[in-house]
Amino acid sequence: MEHYFDQSATTKPSEAAIKAFTDAAQVWGNPSSVHQLGQQSAALLRDCRAKVAKSLGMQRVTKDMLLFTSCGTESNNIAMLGCAAAKKRDPQCPGTIVITAGEHPSIENPAQRLESQGYDVLRVPTCGGVLDLAMLEDKLKNCRMPVIFAGFMLVNNETGAVYDVKSAAALVKKYFPDAVVHCDAVQGYMKLKFTPYTLGVDTLTVSAHKIHAIRGAAALFVSENVLKRRHLVPVMPGGGQEFGFRSGTENLCSIASLAAAAEEGRLHLAENREATSALRKRLDEALAQLDVKQNQALGAENAEFLPNICSIVLPDIRSETMLNYLSGRGIYVSAGSACSAHAKKKSAALEAFGVTAEDADSTLRISLDYTNTAEDVDALAEALREGIAALQRKRTV
Ligand code: PLP
Repeated sequence: MEHYFDQSATTKPSEAAIKAFTDAAQVWGNPSSVHQLGQQSAALLRDCRAKVAKSLGMQRVTKDMLLFTSCGTESNNIAMLGCAAAKKRDPQCPGTIVITAGEHPSIENPAQRLESQGYDVLRVPTCGGVLDLAMLEDKLKNCRMPVIFAGFMLVNNETGAVYDVKSAAALVKKYFPDAVVHCDAVQGYMKLKFTPYTLGVDTLTVSAHKIHAIRGAAALFVSENVLKRRHLVPVMPGGGQEFGFRSGTENLCSIASLAAAAEEGRLHLAENREATSALRKRLDEALAQLDVKQNQALGAENAEFLPNICSIVLPDIRSETMLNYLSGRGIYVSAGSACSAHAKKKSAALEAFGVTAEDADSTLRISLDYTNTAEDVDALAEALREGIAALQRKRTV
């Protein structure tokens, strides 16, 4: 029996998502071809775009734009690098990029690239899971070069902290009305109710494989305002698909799967969240009986967390050791975040949250959702109890 608690890394495709994927495999014409076969694919693509647009509350698909990409990483890169490339920049004064401390690498790493090219990068502190808006305002008032792009994630992938993107976006617009404000909503999509309009952002990323669709597709919302002002240019020249912003023949199977999962998720958002919260309550109760602490205890008074991500510190046991112990028992969690596992460096998000380096080394990320069961939670709690006893014993032998 397997118990999956790595839902923030990826999710198991739903039946509807798999069906949409396999059905789309029969619609194999190139959506850019003008003949009948191509037009069948183009019609399916239009239908998928309408469904994902609806899930993001887009009424005006014709004015604002929703483009399909291959993954959240690509959408984030198109937004930031496309904005930086949009205008001829003065090498002495290219501009300022604002992001949060502890963004996902798909925002942090392109920002570092721009930093090496002379842009200033301001990182807004996120101590206790809250965006420091006073510090943001102070930085905005005193920045050396105009802000051209600001990227705020909606939910942190390691702590589950929900950030006040709406207030941050409004602050940036107050001081720099021309800046492109972006939201990486990958971890909040289908877990929270939001739209790019309620957040007040210009561009926004969501990704298929985090919402029970098959990987290989994602979307990027781009506002009419950004398009009109030409604040975004394509970073990958090619055949001009996806309104010219993401050249390359569309991955219609994955896109169809994303659309099906978005439709399902939109209809069941409230009940899915309720089911996840009930499981989280059960998990919290079980964890309270164990020798672990929750990183969320460091949360600020006004911090908000999704029930989906539970970050715990083990007693003197390295996270990888416990991860392997649990994996051997068919229980899957991750250490900090799966995405940073390749980098093998300490987690900037946990550090920014206020976790010590020592605790970060012993942090496990347990990510759950409505597809988990009470039995999963009980099995995890029991395995953790046994694991702590066994691994601590080993250390003392
Ligand atoms: N942004 C956040 C907050 C994420 O958690 C992830 C993936 O974990 C991504 C972006 C990247 O998404 P993708 O895996 O689709 O590239």
